[in-house]
Amino acid sequence: MQRIIKPYIKFDDVKQGLREIFASGILTRGRFVEEFRKSIRGYTGAKFSFLTTSATTALWLSLKTAGVKAGDEVIVSDFSFPATANVVEDLGANPVFADVDLDTFNMLPQELENKITRKTKAVIFVDAFGNPDGLLKIKEICRRHRIVLIEDAACAFGSGIEGRKCGNISDITCFSFHPRKLLTTGEGGAITTNIKKYADFFAIKLEHGAVFRKGDWDFIDFGYNFRLSEIQALLGSKQIKKIDKVIKSRRKIQKEYIKYLKPLGFEAQKIHKNVVHNIQSLVFKVPKGIKTDALIRYLYRNNIEASIGTYCLSNTPYYRKRYGQVQANAKYLQGHTITLPCFEGVKTGYVCGKIKTYIKLRNLS
Ligand SMILES: *Cc1c(COP(=O)(O)O)cnc(C)c1O
Repeated sequence: MQRIIKPYIKFDDVKQGLREIFASGILTRGRFVEEFRKSIRGYTGAKFSFLTTSATTALWLSLKTAGVKAGDEVIVSDFSFPATANVVEDLGANPVFADVDLDTFNMLPQELENKITRKTKAVIFVDAFGNPDGLLKIKEICRRHRIVLIEDAACAFGSGIEGRKCGNISDITCFSFHPRKLLTTGEGGAITTNIKKYADFFAIKLEHGAVFRKGDWDFIDFGYNFRLSEIQALLGSKQIKKIDKVIKSRRKIQKEYIKYLKPLGFEAQKIHKNVVHNIQSLVFKVPKGIKTDALIRYLYRNNIEASIGTYCLSNTPYYRKRYGQVQANAKYLQGHTITLPCFEGVKTGYVCGKIKTYIKLRNLS
């Protein structure tokens, strides 16, 4: 099966570390958690880093940190995984869906400007499939309006813009380490920030509301537990060391696909020169007249896993019914994008050959 992604971690990479964990009996809050946190700071350049159980819990806590409450508005990129809006909804705040650019798939600055109201408390900008394109403009607008910028970088570990890495650009950045992402700990996530008052809040809230003083817990607030275990942190810290190599190989795979698919009318996600895109998901716009669902089913019958790009949040049954704010570009992209297999050893020639055959068969019938 040509899978959409395969993990870049082998048993041998963690064998020694696992032995150490089992010998020590320390399964949480130990040296691998600290090592992973430190390597996230080292890699991204962020001042503070925290680990969480997922990007979803990271985003949820980020909204709380930003003071988002019931009745507030949070402007979100409309082309994303539903978690981006769900965390807003869960806090009783209202997601406001900002439409996205048809080439980069990211939030349009003008959309953000148009949708800011006195109730806007935060913005969640999504690096679509790992692409941070346009983030600096969004940041400038947020600064001008004094709105907290939270980056849903679930897909964007390793990406960057103008020499700065994701994790060191927005007020708060959230990463995912789900197996669909480049760097995986099975489940998991991280938060980075350069703002001390947010870091202090995360440190306490992620530790049940406590600070650790003189060898004892002092419960100065109420809080939660969204921790990663030592075993998960071990997986993460091993992968961070080779992430740049992984990204290089994925960009090479993308180039191969473009060579085959461009002549067939497929259009790759736009990557501007100032952007490093980690190719977390390899996504193309399909040619006019091609039904994405039918193509995905055809590929599946040929042992090729593929999926739609991602979702138009405002057009999911729940949000459509609740807000009725369907955004045109995001809706178009949900219907006209496809995610193709990208992993070490993927047979791009085979995948593209099948796509070509499908298009031929379709034109004949
Ligand atoms: C994967 C993903 C999430 C959810 O990440 P989890 O770690 O599974 O919670 C959120 N937003 C985007 C854009 C994603 O791609």
